[in-house]
Amino acid sequence: MTDVSRLADLSLLPVPPADPPGRAVPAVGASPDGRELDRALAALRTVARDGGTVVLVAHVKPDADSLGSAIALGLALRSLGARALVSFDAEPFAPPRTLRFLPGQDLLVEPPLVVAVPDLVVTLDAGSLTRLGALRGVLVRARRSLVVDHHPSNTRFGDVNHVDPSAPSTGALVVEIIDGLGVEIDTDMAAAVYAGLVTDTGSFRSPSTTPTVHLLAARLLATGIDHAAIGRALWDTHRFAYVRLLGQMQARARLEPDHDLVWSWCTAAERAAAGIEFDEMEGAIDGIRGTTEAEIAAMCKQDSDGTWFLSVRSKGAIDVGAVCLGLGGGGHRLAAGLTSRDSLEETMDRLRAALDAAPRLGSGRDPVGGTEPVGRTEPDSPAGLGPSTDPGPSTPPADLEPPGRLDPPPRR
Ligand code: MN
Repeated sequence: MTDVSRLADLSLLPVPPADPPGRAVPAVGASPDGRELDRALAALRTVARDGGTVVLVAHVKPDADSLGSAIALGLALRSLGARALVSFDAEPFAPPRTLRFLPGQDLLVEPPLVVAVPDLVVTLDAGSLTRLGALRGVLVRARRSLVVDHHPSNTRFGDVNHVDPSAPSTGALVVEIIDGLGVEIDTDMAAAVYAGLVTDTGSFRSPSTTPTVHLLAARLLATGIDHAAIGRALWDTHRFAYVRLLGQMQARARLEPDHDLVWSWCTAAERAAAGIEFDEMEGAIDGIRGTTEAEIAAMCKQDSDGTWFLSVRSKGAIDVGAVCLGLGGGGHRLAAGLTSRDSLEETMDRLRAALDAAPRLGSGRDPVGGTEPVGRTEPDSPAGLGPSTDPGPSTPPADLEPPGRLDPPPRR
């Protein structure tokens, strides 16, 4: 058996030979453009050497990958002498309750208190400028900006753009950066990165989970993190009221074979009556998406202002990222979402029509199909939603909120 404690000593993990044939096997965090990584490292080294101020920005309503990546890199930069701050746009300013266990929360600074003109702004897991919400201006004003991300749709909005769509999580790229800076990954950094890795890979169930992903996980575990406690905090911590509400959503789920769809919903009033916060509903889609009779699952959650947020999942035969993009949202091929200010009925009618018109990509329920992350905190989750104004490659229907809250997927 491999001694995983030795893996912790490796700054670059080897690519094992055992990945499925025919699929490219990138090293975890392997950059398609090594020069961008070099430029990223140079910018970070400079600000650390000068004791400069770095603002690490997670996307609006951050998920585990975004916030964990910002915290991990912030801790590493602080250890090198930089003044590191972590911020994100959320109202009120607080991490989602499932992420309050993350270490390094002393790095958090609410947007109005962020340094006006930082030496460097680093964005983590944000596919576009608009995903920064209120912190967009800080990036614009900063002396330098660095984008670190794994979304294929990333618009390269920084001075330096370390973007690798083959990375399983942005945190995997952060590990590569921390290694490049010569900082040893401690348990706090490892916990923050692990939280993003385990969520973005859907607990290592996504097709993006290569052997190298497990080696990275092993390396993080070998630092001594309590992965069981992290998993419990992320997924297995619910109030009884949520359990009952989820049961209600499951009980009334609708199976629509004509559209190969299973879906359900929760209104803001129902949620309020149960005393449940919007960010607690993040995993609700998991309560229905396993339905074997449907290729597509959709969970519709209404925010307090009436806006509907749809989490949409595919088993692989339909690119729901493209479908949601056409409706003003976006995301990944297997996991996407959209925002709508219209009624639930109108919104679902549009989703059905878009699904019916979408090309079929082959055996979606083939257990080995697909290469995209299916983690439940991917960009369409409530934790990852924000007021994007990306127009996207296609024009969204006028009656859907034109600024999709999600970064668009790659053009196909
Ligand atoms: Mn991510």
